Amino acid sequence: MAYELPPLPYPYEALESTIDSETMHLHHDKHHNTYVTNLNAAIEKHPEFGSKSAEDLIKDLSAIPDDIRTAVRNNGGGHVNHTMFWEIMTPGGATEPSGALADAITNKFGTFEEFKNKFQTAGAGRFGSGWVWLVRDQQGSVDIISTANQDNPLMEGQYPILGNDVWEHAYYLKYKNVRADYLKAWWAVLNWDKVAERYTKAAGG
Ligand code: MN
Repeated sequence: MAYELPPLPYPYEALESTIDSETMHLHHDKHHNTYVTNLNAAIEKHPEFGSKSAEDLIKDLSAIPDDIRTAVRNNGGGHVNHTMFWEIMTPGGATEPSGALADAITNKFGTFEEFKNKFQTAGAGRFGSGWVWLVRDQQGSVDIISTANQDNPLMEGQYPILGNDVWEHAYYLKYKNVRADYLKAWWAVLNWDKVAERYTKAAGG
């Protein structure tokens, strides 16, 4: 098996006040696992791609054979997106960023509050299923984008430093149809230390 479901870096109930453990179980054990299973099934048809990381697969979809390109886009994207998603959450993290990342956010959006508002608006405005992201460019500037389905900013040459999943499966049990409440609550479980690591890493890649 080329690609594997990573374990959660904390217990399923660790984020309970924001994301209930039943949602975490379904989201990780079922949804994410299905993306991994389907990605492996696709790559089995062209095993020469199995030595590439999932990130490398989705960075250059044009190199993927026609018969598995859509499967790699959806399931490779799903695997990369969710692997990041678990990592950038934590119980009891910092309430806001610091250092160079905080500077980049305030340079772009004026204030941290305004960044959060714009991010929530972009997430709430995504029609149907998708993700909302903070990406950074080679100069260190950040921006908010939204993608459909399991598309990842890497597919468009952008580096995601954080992203929130706005598929209904991410929030429906606790927040029902009110996606905006989920987006607003989600900041409480963000792992700003991990996001800062991604911001720094992006400078090199
Ligand atoms: Mn999801």
